Amino acid sequence: MSESIPHWLTKQANILPNYPAIELTDGTHVSFHDLEINSLSYARKLAAIGVEKGTHIGILSTNCLEMVYTIHAISYLGAVGVLLNTKLTDEELNFQLDDADVNILITNDRRNRNLRVKESYTFQQLETMEESSVSLQFHINFDDTFTIMYTSGTTGFPKGVVHTYGNHWWSAISSALNLGLNKDDKWLISLPLFHVSGLSTLMKSVIYGMPIFLMKKFDESMVHHAIMEKQITIVSVVTVMVQRLLERLGTENYPNSLRCFLLGGGPAPKVLLERAKEKGIPVFQSYGMTETTSQIVTLSAGDCLDKLGSAGKPLLPAQLKINNPGSDGVGEIVVKGPMVTPGYYKNQEANEKSFKDGWLYTGDLGSVDEQGFLYVVDRRTDLIISGGENIYPSEIENALMKMTEIKEAGVTRMEDDKWGYVPVAYVVLHSEITKEEIFAFLATQLAKYKLPKKVFFVEELPRNASNKLLRNKLKEL
Ligand code: ATP
Ligand code: MG
Repeated sequence: MSESIPHWLTKQANILPNYPAIELTDGTHVSFHDLEINSLSYARKLAAIGVEKGTHIGILSTNCLEMVYTIHAISYLGAVGVLLNTKLTDEELNFQLDDADVNILITNDRRNRNLRVKESYTFQQLETMEESSVSLQFHINFDDTFTIMYTSGTTGFPKGVVHTYGNHWWSAISSALNLGLNKDDKWLISLPLFHVSGLSTLMKSVIYGMPIFLMKKFDESMVHHAIMEKQITIVSVVTVMVQRLLERLGTENYPNSLRCFLLGGGPAPKVLLERAKEKGIPVFQSYGMTETTSQIVTLSAGDCLDKLGSAGKPLLPAQLKINNPGSDGVGEIVVKGPMVTPGYYKNQEANEKSFKDGWLYTGDLGSVDEQGFLYVVDRRTDLIISGGENIYPSEIENALMKMTEIKEAGVTRMEDDKWGYVPVAYVVLHSEITKEEIFAFLATQLAKYKLPKKVFFVEELPRNASNKLLRNKLKEL
């Protein structure tokens, strides 16, 4: 029997009516009561433009209150929200709109776009609609689909990940069981709500009854000021944000109220974690993906000292194993848990490849130490096999990043008559340095067979709309 609970937002509006649900940088506070009223109004207006139970509605928006109302509104209608990345090109968006069977689009995107969708409304247009007197649903059914969100497309075509209400619920609960929940918690989101880390934090707000401090986008000065002055306790971050915040912080220190930087989305260079440690910033390194509705493995700040570079242990309801480990203990990371998606939307091929006996085969390589700490190594598709030895590009990139002259580094494989494949490196420089100096430094860091055969200086590295390095495009440079 499928589980069902009273609607989480309506419940919070009843328990904590006047408590802030959302704070904005301009000082606006939206209470849980007002959040419910506005979301219900949006639900009735969406019904007026034809959104009903099961409708796939595209949401193409940067972070704003209207987007939040729309997301909650669809849960009162039983519609499915397809969250779209505003940085995508028309062609990329059209692929996702078709693939996810979207009929109606709601947007705050002002670009002159050419999108293949039957109907499209701005939030302003939606707000002028008469509310329709539909009957709304005040229960959350855990097995129902709430959202569809595409993977970043780092290894190939983006895949539409289905998130049920149960996935969002368990993601929020698992995180609370790990990070704890304080009465005064306030979580800052500057990452987009169309990505899973932003959306999952929005859900935490209504599941915990916790205010979120919502920013339009990441701006290090604004985030810095918010942490200093707005009693922020938790901030979701990705690596580049930590880098820029640390620079902005300079010789200052954050107030004690800040208890967690939840770091996700990709690997973090050790040097950066060490610098954060020196500044007393509690960084919680994590591992997760769109498919796991944000983090599924997390390293507590306490363990961060001894286990630098590890992503931690699986959250309470989650399980993890390493499939087919090699002699170095590295194999594919396989995970299971109630926050893991039931599958990709209408993508049988990907589903057959990724899901077996209830386990998700992540396509990521990693190892687990005796105490159960996970070390993410790299993506399986990026592995370089050279003369029978496994070489992980991330290890070489990390070594390159230790040189202060190097701003960014990307490593991929090149065919080689003798070894099959060899690594080659592409670097963007901060300041001048010669290739000889780079090779000389790498020789002190890496075994001989891991040394890149060539180093290329480039202006920038190829990245996708999520700013992730596209290693398979490096060769085109
Ligand atoms: P696609 O699946 O379309 O190729 P993607 O995997 O980049 O894109 P996301 O779901 O946004 O899409 O990213 C999840 C991936 O990010 C993980 O599978 C992993 O490769 C990487 N990642 C996440 N956390 C970490 C981490 N702590 N260390 C290393 N890599 C990480
Ligand atoms: Mg992926």
